[in-house]
Amino acid sequence: MTAFDLDFFVIGGGSGGVRAARTAAALGARTALAEERYLGGTCVNVGCVPKKLFSYAAHYARDFQDARGYGWKTNANPDFDWQILMQRKNAEISRLNGIYGNLLRNAGVRVIEARARVLDAHTVEVGGEILRCREILLATGGWPSLPDIPGRELALNSNDIFALPSLPDAIVIVGGGYIAVEFAGIFAGLGVKTTLVHRGATLLRGFDAEIAAHFQNDLRQYADLRLENTVKALHRAGEQILVTLADGHEIATAQVLFATGRQPNTTGLGLEEAGVQLAANGAVLVNAQFTTNVPSIHAVGDVIDRVALTPVALAEGQILAHRLFGTATREMTYDNIPTAVFCHPEIATVGLSEDQARASGAAIKVFRSRFTPLRHTLSGRAEKAFLKLVVDAESDKVLGAHMLGEGAAEIIQGLAIALTMGATKADFDRTLGIHPSTAEEFVTMRTPS
Ligand code: FAD
Ligand code: NDP
Repeated sequence: MTAFDLDFFVIGGGSGGVRAARTAAALGARTALAEERYLGGTCVNVGCVPKKLFSYAAHYARDFQDARGYGWKTNANPDFDWQILMQRKNAEISRLNGIYGNLLRNAGVRVIEARARVLDAHTVEVGGEILRCREILLATGGWPSLPDIPGRELALNSNDIFALPSLPDAIVIVGGGYIAVEFAGIFAGLGVKTTLVHRGATLLRGFDAEIAAHFQNDLRQYADLRLENTVKALHRAGEQILVTLADGHEIATAQVLFATGRQPNTTGLGLEEAGVQLAANGAVLVNAQFTTNVPSIHAVGDVIDRVALTPVALAEGQILAHRLFGTATREMTYDNIPTAVFCHPEIATVGLSEDQARASGAAIKVFRSRFTPLRHTLSGRAEKAFLKLVVDAESDKVLGAHMLGEGAAEIIQGLAIALTMGATKADFDRTLGIHPSTAEEFVTMRTPS
């Protein structure tokens, strides 16, 4: 008999928490998980999944236009019904919430639908219950963060978008990261007059600069892009919101979305009282094994503010659970994490950008290809695909693969395996292409440029 009620208590039923709890329970740990809002967390409820459904919805607008070049005589302005999309999206998310609950319960995890708080190194309080736990996992994720400007209460954050009662006729989106550019594509695709305001000179900082530059030109085809500018204030003007920009311009719009980053969710969790060290932005500080300075308290996912992606939170949760309750000793590696931005057109990338590779001191060769995909020869859409490989000149290893164009995420996922295995450019060269496809360019680029 142990003095503990549980072996493992997980706070947060998102990507990282659910994976850790299921894995621990499967390894025989007596596990409970507390979720205060929605099972599945950000990704399922207000992130990856509904965002991609919205993105599919927006894509149809392009498909209707492109179809004309192939002889389809479609209605020039097909009707779009936001209510139908929302109802169907909500039904799918409810279905997923149920699946997450079943997955946990079937694995033997006790699911507690309430907010939890840490009392000390081995004790949590949840729904009025005090539980003594051998190990505690913080998997509380993040929350949208907005700059403190006058009128900010008039703005939406990304959570609000997924509950928006009606489609606005115009929107101003602030930010130049994943969420800003994804929603610019979604709203513009759904016929909303879209303006994107970003403080930087280029969008998508951290991505390969050429990919970002080409994308920026594509985005200008469907959105009004205001770079090196910020929003100073928002005012209500009748039905409209008046957006005052730093350059003095004013924009009247129906909605304003701030997509200016997310902050770790640690407020009111009891961590200061339990002596858990936090970074200045509230992120939980953990070592390479995801353990805090308090040996029985661990953290994974967005709350540790390393790489805010679902597959990363899943891997961290699984690795931690195996270390605590199993025998596996796999270490987390943050190299070659593939990622996609579901903007229009799509961007996907794995490995080093050209700038990152140069900064590492490596001598590199760069292979690039920019061309009109076969599909657009008849659709008439002025949109080119751009593919790029960054190769170590000495070892011939492919350091980075980047793509802007339709299907980028599906294509780069496959290349991520090759890069993880240490593929060289010679390996790419001896791989046969699939013809005709956009992806075959990755194995036919012969001359560095
Ligand atoms: P979360 O999924 O945020 O889960 C944390 C959970 O903890 C929440 O459910 C919360 O309610 C709960 N919680 C918090 N505090 C408590 C408490 N005290 N007690 C009980 N419960 C608590 N990533 C991708 O890989 N691909 C994408 O396409 C993608 N799209 C995204 C789109 C948007 C709009 C956003 C915002 C994010 C997107 N992400 C995407 C990122 C991805 O959603 C996150 O990286 C991932 O959800 C992190 O998982 P997590 O377990 O760390 O946290
Ligand atoms: P990002 O960090 O990607 O982008 C935030 C953007 O807001 C940046 O362009 C940043 O500018 C700008 N910004 C930050 N603070 C301010 C400010 N005070 N005023 C004006 N602009 C500001 O965050 P997101 O919110 O877009 O997304 C959060 C995270 O969620 C992403 O980083 C990603 O990890 C994950 N995510 C993943 C997706 C996917 O996998 N497809 C989709 C959506 C989210 P600057 O560049 O100058 O710092």
